[in-house]
Amino acid sequence: MCYRRSMATKPRALIIGAGISGLSAAWWLDKAGWTSVIVERAPRLRDGGYLVTISGLGLETLMRMNLAKDLEGLTYKFEENVFNDNNGRELLRIRYKDVHGGVESLAVCRDDLARTLAKALPESASIRFNETLDHFYDDGSKIQATVKSGDIIEADLLIGADGIRSSVRNESWKDVDCLEHLGYSYAAYDFEKKDVLKSDCVSFNGPGHLDMLYALRNDRVAALHIWRDDMMKPKDEENNFEIVRHVTAGSVKLVADVIDGAEESGSSPIMDRLTMVTLPKWSKGRIVLLGDAAHCLTLMSAQGACMALASTEILGKELMATKDISQALDNHERKLRPIIEKLQQRSRNMASMYIPKSKILFYLRNLLMKLMPASWVASWHANAVKFEVDLTKS
Ligand SMILES: Cc1cc2nc3c(=O)[nH]c(=O)nc-3n(C[C@H](O)[C@H](O)[C@H](O)COP(=O)(O)OP(=O)(O)OC[C@H]3O[C@@H](n4cnc5c(N)ncnc54)[C@H](O)[C@@H]3O)c2cc1C
Repeated sequence: MCYRRSMATKPRALIIGAGISGLSAAWWLDKAGWTSVIVERAPRLRDGGYLVTISGLGLETLMRMNLAKDLEGLTYKFEENVFNDNNGRELLRIRYKDVHGGVESLAVCRDDLARTLAKALPESASIRFNETLDHFYDDGSKIQATVKSGDIIEADLLIGADGIRSSVRNESWKDVDCLEHLGYSYAAYDFEKKDVLKSDCVSFNGPGHLDMLYALRNDRVAALHIWRDDMMKPKDEENNFEIVRHVTAGSVKLVADVIDGAEESGSSPIMDRLTMVTLPKWSKGRIVLLGDAAHCLTLMSAQGACMALASTEILGKELMATKDISQALDNHERKLRPIIEKLQQRSRNMASMYIPKSKILFYLRNLLMKLMPASWVASWHANAVKFEVDLTKS
């Protein structure tokens, strides 16, 4: 079926979610002559949390949005990551300049990236905070949507950019079982703590879990814990910090101090299972999913935000090239899908490399790392990073 957009007025997109993909989509749709209404459940842009590395296609998209200058001063240049075992014994020291092997990338907090995208929003886009979609109907020529406040919004396209637990996906793809758990969970948070870290980035790795601590500006520390799902108690009723304490028990005192400090400061961790979204198709009629809602890659690939950005550029350009919306959605999917499928395969493989599941695999991996000359380890990492970035450009 061919869906043509109306010629009389500018076509309008209703975007659910003001995250990386929703904000970036509004920017690229403006370039295609569209207007956008963004509906965001939270009262404001989400604060805090974690660092993202932007490379490959995602970085190129940011450059084409001329946002590199706006991000200056918000990015981090980490020199090295020191990996230790649970007793604090150094396993490996990775210098980022060695492992990135010439691949350009920038590290930025997710909230700073989202705020930068929000500042760049064109006049054709507006955000309604504290709002969600109540129900919607695709009548073939328009989307008729009612939001929780009772307003009715008519749109030419409904974009589900509402993350891994997408309400748009749950409603329109309700019969598709698309969540693939990788067998790990994570918690991420940041908080203010002076002089807690001796280097930019330090990691502690035990069988089945990895704790990464980063020194941020203004005496802030970002923590990311990843663990095997079966390390959680069958019925965890504790708060999120108690769960993190339980799965990191046996790690060094610094990790326990960080958890205590974060809890005392009132920080609230983002916590979830590492889950990929694998759908046979990302659009249906006038509805399309973008970013994690469509194809969550998990943090294992370090490409989720990158691909969210790249996807919105592809969509914007396809909507610029044709007035036939269904054709534009098909072209967008045809270009993006092969890259996403390869990245998802990488996510399945990478988890067990960074967090070996059993004690024996953990000790074997560490032995291998000790026996290998540091330059080999660096070049293995460099090749892995390069492979991933090249994939996004293929
Ligand atoms: C710890 C961690 C580290 C990561 N590291 C990297 C990295 O190094 N590099 C990288 O590229 N990617 C990384 N990622 C992945 C990246 O963060 C995500 O892929 C990216 O944020 C996805 O953007 P999104 O806009 O699709 O979804 P989200 O960022 O989740 O945004 C969704 C938005 O929708 C809103 N929303 C949800 N439901 C509703 C609703 N019903 N109604 C209205 N609004 C709603 C939410 O409040 C949110 O604002 C990492 C992820 C994690 C968790």
